[in-house]
Amino acid sequence: MTRRLRCVVAAAALAALDGPRAVAQTGGPPDQPAVTVRGQTYTPRSILSRNMGTEEDQTTAFPPHQVIGNVYYVGTRTLSSYLITTPAGHILINSTYERNVRTIEKSVTQLGFKFADVRILLGTHAHGDHQEGDALVKQLTGAQVMAMREDVPALEAIAPGGKAHPIDRTLRDGEAVTLGGTTLVAHLTAGHTRGCTTWTMQAQEGGRTFNVVFACSYRAPGNVTPAIESEFTRTFKILRSLPCDVPLGDHPAQYNMTAKHARLTPGAARPFPSPFVDPANCWGEAEIQEAMLRAQLQMQQK
Ligand SMILES: [Zn+2]
Repeated sequence: MTRRLRCVVAAAALAALDGPRAVAQTGGPPDQPAVTVRGQTYTPRSILSRNMGTEEDQTTAFPPHQVIGNVYYVGTRTLSSYLITTPAGHILINSTYERNVRTIEKSVTQLGFKFADVRILLGTHAHGDHQEGDALVKQLTGAQVMAMREDVPALEAIAPGGKAHPIDRTLRDGEAVTLGGTTLVAHLTAGHTRGCTTWTMQAQEGGRTFNVVFACSYRAPGNVTPAIESEFTRTFKILRSLPCDVPLGDHPAQYNMTAKHARLTPGAARPFPSPFVDPANCWGEAEIQEAMLRAQLQMQQK
């Protein structure tokens, strides 16, 4: 096989693998290219397995916890779901898989909130591991489902059990969603999907205001077309312009959730500032993904 053909085959394999079924079906994306960022080496395979973990990790609740102010984690070990509480009801970001919805509901209840009080359902991007459960969340709560315009076609294709994907309001880049005094802003940060959305808001804790960033995935697909490359170039530039104290992500490994959570001792006073305040690592994940994108492009050109 020629070198060029090998690359094309590798790229095609990666393209087919750009989803959660990747590891189970084929053993995962290739172990090249490899990039080293801040002393850690990553490959497409290691990034996907870091993000997804095992089947059990994807469906087992991580201990629900307060992240900062009115922001709570209610997802599984590897698939993030966030609850933002307000006096007028709650906002949920990412329903994850449909089979996780009852697990998320349980985590919300465990924190002392009512799942039925979820009024708005948002998402980071139109892949099943983040938004497959939207229809069920809407069915259980009556929440309004809002989505970035550019992700609507891909969301409509996510219809578990033939249920139509609910979309009550379509958002444009920069639009705000407000409930009970909390405002989230939707930033179009395309590349991973056409409508990949990074959400920002401000949270209050201990008399201080913190900028919270709910990052989308910035992992490039196996075959980076010129259109996708230009989406990512715009995205990485936008990200670095967003004010950020608390970096979060749609997979917890993107912000080292487990290590940060370990600094919260059950029953002990909550440390201040919250261990999730980590401005130095706000764009660590973007740095990794940008290095990988450039390495993939180089490999494609060979
Ligand atoms: Zn994805």
